[in-house]
Amino acid sequence: MPELFYQKPEIYRILVPLPENPLKTLNSYLIKSENRNLLIDTGFNRPECYEALIENLKKLNVDMEKTDIFLTHLHSDHTGLINKIAHENSKIYIGKTDYEYIVENLKGLNWKESEKRFASEGFPYEIIERLRKTNQARIFAPDGIFESISLEDGDKFNIDKLEFTVILTPGHTPGHTCLYLEKEKLLFSGDHILFDITPNITAWLKVKDSLRDYISSLEKIKRFEIKKTFPGHRTPSEDIYNRIDEIVEHHKSRLLDTLEVIKEHSNGLTAYEIASLMKWNMRGKSWSEFPDNQKWFAVGETLSHLDFLINENKIVKFKSDDIYKYKLK
Ligand SMILES: [Zn+2]
Repeated sequence: MPELFYQKPEIYRILVPLPENPLKTLNSYLIKSENRNLLIDTGFNRPECYEALIENLKKLNVDMEKTDIFLTHLHSDHTGLINKIAHENSKIYIGKTDYEYIVENLKGLNWKESEKRFASEGFPYEIIERLRKTNQARIFAPDGIFESISLEDGDKFNIDKLEFTVILTPGHTPGHTCLYLEKEKLLFSGDHILFDITPNITAWLKVKDSLRDYISSLEKIKRFEIKKTFPGHRTPSEDIYNRIDEIVEHHKSRLLDTLEVIKEHSNGLTAYEIASLMKWNMRGKSWSEFPDNQKWFAVGETLSHLDFLINENKIVKFKSDDIYKYKLK
């Protein structure tokens, strides 16, 4: 049975399994109201997720015809099942920017560009080719383009008497959004703020400095009064403000570690090389033992730190044999 996480309003958590993924599960939330419900996030487009979601919605007696859906951000573990789960009468709410990225992803445009970008940062071609067939974000993406109500920062919508406010929090994805119940002081934080794990920050196409965006989106959330936070993965918490400080500290220390690695190589290093020299919390595994997708995430995160350091005037990026390298300024 899905857990009842909150009494007024009634908030249930449906744990959607994410097989072969280090995140393990997705928190899909169902907010039940008298005449209408809201479902937040869906799980990957794969049978294991679909069955878990459908089964739990059935246990809660949810009629999808009377249920609207909010997607916190573009990632497939949050959006994958949207076409399969939405009823034709369900309104689908999503932030405008991430919706545009999803449409481009489904047309295959962004993937090609990202591959090119990673290759130019020293990421090996053979891994890129393998990832094309195994990257869960790609293979478990939504079935196709879906109609949505695109939301911008500060937009509001209702589920019966409950009034939800959209808070644009770019960083984890270019148009990530949190959902806020102002009167109740409850926040659905998607992957912007997680409590047991650190949200992945990567370099995005068309985004200059996603880590800087992310940190200012963390500061933005601090300005809201929040009693309880419901994150996209793992456990909810009542202490969001401390967690925000911890995440900012984590990135500050990663930035220093990145600088240390660069400092030791005066001829410059590629982003791939820098990532391979960083310490990662991967249960004692060495870089060469990292699974392909973890290497992709690690290089993405390193790139976001490098972009930040460039904008701080601490390092420079230069081209050598068609590949970008980084050295101290
Ligand atoms: Zn995510």
